[in-house]
Amino acid sequence: MNRPTEPLVELVGVCKEYAGGVVALADIDLTVGYGELAGIVGPSGSGKSTMLNLIGTLDRPTAGTVRIDGHDVAALSDRRLSALRAHRIGFVFQQFHLAPGRTACENVADGLLYAGHSPRERRRRAQATLERVGLADRMDHLPHELSGGQRQRVAIARAVAGDPVLLLADEPTGNLDTASGQGVMDLLRELHAAGTTVLVITHDRDIAAALPRQVTMRDGRIAAPDSRTHPGALASTGREA
Ligand code: ADP
Ligand code: MG
Repeated sequence: MNRPTEPLVELVGVCKEYAGGVVALADIDLTVGYGELAGIVGPSGSGKSTMLNLIGTLDRPTAGTVRIDGHDVAALSDRRLSALRAHRIGFVFQQFHLAPGRTACENVADGLLYAGHSPRERRRRAQATLERVGLADRMDHLPHELSGGQRQRVAIARAVAGDPVLLLADEPTGNLDTASGQGVMDLLRELHAAGTTVLVITHDRDIAAALPRQVTMRDGRIAAPDSRTHPGALASTGREA
């Protein structure tokens, strides 16, 4: 259910302590509106991936509230949480995570397995999405037959083939040369322009500086001020408005 007058992502007093006593996140408040494009920056170990995993509902907080797309994550069963993730959120990782023996088209189609489409419809959507990311001529290539930048495009196609409202990318350019990284960032920008909310972790200062908003993390906290030069296409409401 879309409620654009509410934020898409809302973290309130969120803490995450891992077994062993590591406090990865301490009292995080963050609001992201529908239609934003934001970078999450900060040194290694500052809690960026932990925060993205909580936003992606891959993990639950030790304390505090995580609200995604109108749902309090703590109130959802594992099954409903999986459904929210499958239908509303796409993920991209530094290491691509493509299945090695599957073609580009199969990798993207496999990402739709939980969305309830027929195999034929999955294939049709996979092809359309690969065309959208500029890989029309690489449908039947295996990952090892693709460049790093092309592999990441396949991973992005897989993430957005189901038309998620939220795309989360954890260091998507971390394994790429500068030119391929720029291409991937341009693609994320295009997806954002088409309406997807995009959160991207990066430790590349130039990439971060080019984004409309940067959330800077340090020692498990958001270092103020959270720079937001443009409020985002559909703007968020609440504390930060
Ligand atoms: P970043 O992505 O900014 O590098 P992370 O969120 O990966 O930071 O890690 C934040 C802190 O939590 C680090 O000190 C890290 O060692 C710790 N950490 C991350 N994942 C785990 C885990 N699964 N178990 C225990 N500690 C973890
Ligand atoms: Mg990380």
